[in-house]
Amino acid sequence: MIRFVPWQNVADWHCRACGYCCKLYSVVLNFPEWLTLTKTFGSETTVTGLNRFYIKRDSDGSCAFLCKCSTNYFCALQNMKPDACKVWPFKVLSEPKYGDPDKAAYTYRGYQLYVYADTMCSGLRYGEPTWDFRTATVKEFTELSLGLRQVQHNTTKTGFRYPQWIR
Ligand code: SF4
Ligand code: SF4
Repeated sequence: MIRFVPWQNVADWHCRACGYCCKLYSVVLNFPEWLTLTKTFGSETTVTGLNRFYIKRDSDGSCAFLCKCSTNYFCALQNMKPDACKVWPFKVLSEPKYGDPDKAAYTYRGYQLYVYADTMCSGLRYGEPTWDFRTATVKEFTELSLGLRQVQHNTTKTGFRYPQWIR
C-alpha cells in the first residue's frame, strides 16, 4: 500500500474532524511544548520514552486531549497544539523520498522542497490540485513545518460552531 503521495496528486484537503489521526499516533513533543503542557495540565498528561516526550494516550489509544462533540472530534489544546499535529497529514522534506520527485517538488522562497501527504487521512481528495490548495494550503503547511508560522487557517478544520477549533 502506498502510504505517502506527492502533493501534486492531491486535489484538496479539508479536515473532516474524524479524529482518526488523534487515535493513530503518539504525539511527539519538543521540549518547550512538553514544558508548557506539564506546567498547565500537570506531568500526568505526558509520558517519556526513547529520550522523547509524548502526549499521554488513553486506554483506547486516543490522545489525552481529544474531545468529542456529536459526531465531530476536536482538539482541546488549540493554542497549545503541538507542531507535529499542526503539520499532519503533510510531510515537508528537503530531499525527495516517495514516488515521482517532480510531483512532490515545491519551491518556497527559492528553496526546493518536497511535500507529501499521508494517505491515512480521510480528508484528502485526489486529483489535479485546486488553486486554493496549491497557493494557500500547501504554503501554510510548508510554513508551519519550517517554523515560519504558528497560526492555522487552511490547515485546520473550520466550522460554524468551532471556528479554527477542530483537530
Ligand atoms: S486530519 Fe485527517 S485523519 Fe485527522 S481528523 Fe482530520 S480528516 Fe481525520
Ligand atoms: S490535534 Fe490535539 S487531540 Fe489531536 S493528537 Fe494533537 S494534541 Fe491530541
